[in-house]
Formats: sequence, structure tokens, C-alpha cells
Amino acid sequence: MALDILYPTATSGFCKVRRPSVVDDILHSTHGIKQKDTPVVKPNIVVVGGSYVGCKTVDYLAPAFHETHNIILIEKNSHFQHIFAFPRFSVYPGLEDRAFVPLNNPFPTAPPKAARVIRGAVERVEHASPVPGKPWQNGIVVLEDGTEVSWEYLIYTTGTGKEGGAGIEKADGMKRLRNLQEEVKAAKRIVVAGGGAWGIQVALDIAEYLPEKEVTLVHSRATVMNRFHPKLHDIVMDKFASAGVNSRLGVRLVTPPEGYPTDGRAFNVQLSDGTSIETDCLVQCTGTVPLSKPLSYLSPASINEWGFVKVKPTMQIQDEHFPKVFSLGDVADTGAHKAARPAYEQAPVVEKNIRKIMAWEHERQREYRGEPLDLVQYKVPGHGIHLALGLTESVLFRNPVTPGADPVYRISKDDAKALDAGCWRIWANRAPTVTDFRS
Ligand SMILES: Cc1cc2nc3c(=O)[nH]c(=O)nc-3n(C[C@H](O)[C@H](O)[C@H](O)COP(=O)(O)OP(=O)(O)OC[C@H]3O[C@@H](n4cnc5c(N)ncnc54)[C@H](O)[C@@H]3O)c2cc1C
Repeated sequence: MALDILYPTATSGFCKVRRPSVVDDILHSTHGIKQKDTPVVKPNIVVVGGSYVGCKTVDYLAPAFHETHNIILIEKNSHFQHIFAFPRFSVYPGLEDRAFVPLNNPFPTAPPKAARVIRGAVERVEHASPVPGKPWQNGIVVLEDGTEVSWEYLIYTTGTGKEGGAGIEKADGMKRLRNLQEEVKAAKRIVVAGGGAWGIQVALDIAEYLPEKEVTLVHSRATVMNRFHPKLHDIVMDKFASAGVNSRLGVRLVTPPEGYPTDGRAFNVQLSDGTSIETDCLVQCTGTVPLSKPLSYLSPASINEWGFVKVKPTMQIQDEHFPKVFSLGDVADTGAHKAARPAYEQAPVVEKNIRKIMAWEHERQREYRGEPLDLVQYKVPGHGIHLALGLTESVLFRNPVTPGADPVYRISKDDAKALDAGCWRIWANRAPTVTDFRS
């Protein structure tokens, strides 16, 4: 069967495309967007990825554009996953339900019905050109179940993770964390692989919560937190010394083809210098990749050799064919430190630039195709981090702005509220009326 699908454009009405056996989700009556007795629907601004950066982007886009556009967030997981808490909740029991926040009404400050969430994994981003190879600004995203959603503007914020990973239900996510807690609890000796924030927080939480364990952190570089000024390495090493965490730096794991046991029996972790560590449990805090594959169908040119999306300071992807496609957050090669806070500043850049493009189109009554336009540029902030140093202490660290200067940092005692690793804040922002953490 073939369906005619109408792809709305901002200025030129509709583009009619004939495609075999497709259903445009946004024209599908079950989503309630098609208005009765009228063929006119608003064009879509689609945000792919509903985590820190995707949701923050919708916070800006929904109030700004909901009158002229549908603002649609597509997220593959059942819940917003507060990843910051995962290191703690893979060790410390009882709070794991708080790391999964419902996405029923995640934009409470936006005007009612200004944005909606579609649950689904985007498999491909495509353009909607009826002529193969012809550049075309509008396009579709294709979900893994075949559903298609058209877009006039696309904001791609899929972050990093395991390539091809399916969406996760809250119950399964909680189970994974509990399984890790059990493995850690049952082990006498634990190797933590990865000297970034993830590994450091896991190692220090184990050392503090389960002080009888022997913990060794393995990291491939000579210093941990190696994207930061070496002072942060010194702070972490001091903390490791007082907490009794061992470290093996400048060596990599040599992973056996069959992987490592997870049943609690002792095994050897082989290291790249020929030595090994006998352990009962390995916690891998490395190995995520940028999830850019769906976008690579639309624009292979904008994906760099490591899989990150190449973007301009305007947050548009580096592909002149698609001036209405933006990418931000961890998946994008923005030059910013990979953390939520610097990426939050990218969201208003997108909002301002979409506004400018719309104004340009309104003035000229034609579609914007990348003509010179004075767009807003993102300024990469200095590297900074708030790093937990165990259950009750953390460091706020900022790299020096000028070479040779000293970093700025403050080590402080955390209050009891910090035990949930900031979950309370996500619930307050994304689910303020929900009181049951099991939701
Ligand atoms: C264990 C750990 C602890 C961390 N702790 C901190 C911290 O304390 N402070 C800090 O600032 N940063 C921390 N970070 C880094 C921080 O989590 C990231 O910088 C942040 O998550 C980036 O946000 P994002 O929205 O760009 O991407 P992500 O948070 O990775 O979100 C991407 C979203 O896109 C969805 N998605 C991906 N592919 C698809 C698809 N094909 N279709 C639909 N949806 C899709 C994913 O399900 C996910 O919800 C930590 C990272 C880790 C791994």
C-alpha cells in the first residue's frame, strides 16, 4: 500500500511525498494533532533524545514556538534517566527508583500542551526530498517500529551510550543497578575500570559504604580526570589515600574474548603492562560511544571519525544541506566538556537561531536554505565539574581560564540531601506533582 504524506513547511504549505507503507505519526489521529475537517497541521520541531539536554532544549522551544509548530520530543527510554546517580546507586541500595523520573509531563513550566513526548527509538533520520540526492531541508525520523515523524527543524541530542541499545523500562534499569549492588556486596576485591568521574565516584562510594572491600581503580592515563588541570588528580589521589582505594594508572585492561565472569568467582584482570589483578568483581565505567548513527543516514558528512556530530558554533550541523538541523549535548563535538551544565547553555542558542531563521523566512516569504544570516554563536565555557568524593564530600572544580593560572576549587561537606545524587532536583523540575518514586 502507498500513502500520500503531507509534509508541512513553514512557508510553502505542504510537500507531498509518495512513500510505500508509511504512517506519519504526527498525522496519525491517535496523537490528536490532526485537526478535524482541516488538512492544515503545524510543522514539527523534533528533538531526538529526552535527557538533560533534550529536555532543556524543549524548555526553551515550547514557549517560543508552540503557536506555530508542534514541539515533539522523542525518547527511547520509558523514563528520564538521571545518570549522575548511577555510580552511587550501583553501590548504595534503596534509592534506585529515584534515578528514573516519569516523562508524563516533563515540561511543567511550558504552556499547556505546548510540547509532547513520543516514546520510541529513532532508527534513521532522513530528508524528505522526492528526488534522491537533492538537498532538502525538511525530513522525517523513522522509529524502530516503522513510525515516521516529519520535521521542519531537528534537534539531535542522543548523547553517548551503547550503540544499538534498546530503550529501557524503569523496572529493568532498577534491576540492573540492584544486580550491580549485589555483585559489589558479594565481592571481597573489586576492580573499577575508568578514571573519569563515573569510576572515581563508584570507587569512593564503595570505599565509604563498604569499607571492608579492597578497591582498585585502573585507568589508562597517567592521571585521573585527565581533561582537567592536574590539581584535580591530586585532590582525587589524596581522597583515595584516606579512603584506602588503590590505583593502577597508565595501564589498560586486556579483555578476554569471552568477557569476565559475573557470578562472584575470583578471576584475573590482565593489564596492558603484563601484570594482572586478582578480583571477584569488575565494574566497567568506560566504553560509551556517541549515538550518532541515526543522524548519519541524513548527513554522513557531519559525523567525525570518533562518531561525534560536527557542529558549528551556531549549533547547526556542519552540513550546508541542512541548515535547520542542530545537534548539542554529549553527542555533539561542541568543544565543551561532556557534562550537562555546559550543554544547557547550548539550548538557548538553538532557540535564538530558530527564531532568526523564522524571521528571515517570514520577511522573504521563502524557505531558508542556509543563506548568510547573523546567527547566535555558542561560547565554549571553561571546564568545570562538581565531583562527589564519596557519600558526604564533593569538590567543585574549575579549570584556569588562562594558561598557567591556578584552578579554582572548593571541597565541601555535603548534607544528607546530596545522598540521592541530585535526584530531588530532577523530580522537582520534570515531575513536580508526582510524589511516588515508583511512578
Ligand atoms: C555515570 C555517569 C555519571 C555522570 N555524572 C555527571 C555529573 O555528576 N555531572 C555532570 O554534569 N555530568 C555527569 N555525567 C555526564 C552527563 O551525564 C552527560 O554529560 C549528560 O548526560 C549529557 O546529556 P545529553 O542529554 O547530551 O545525553 P544523554 O544524557 O546521554 O541523553 C541522551 C538521550 O537520548 C536518548 N536516545 C539516544 N539514542 C536515541 C534514539 N536513537 N532514539 C531516541 N532516543 C535516543 C537516550 O535514551 C537518552 O535519554 C555523568 C555521566 C555518566 C555516564
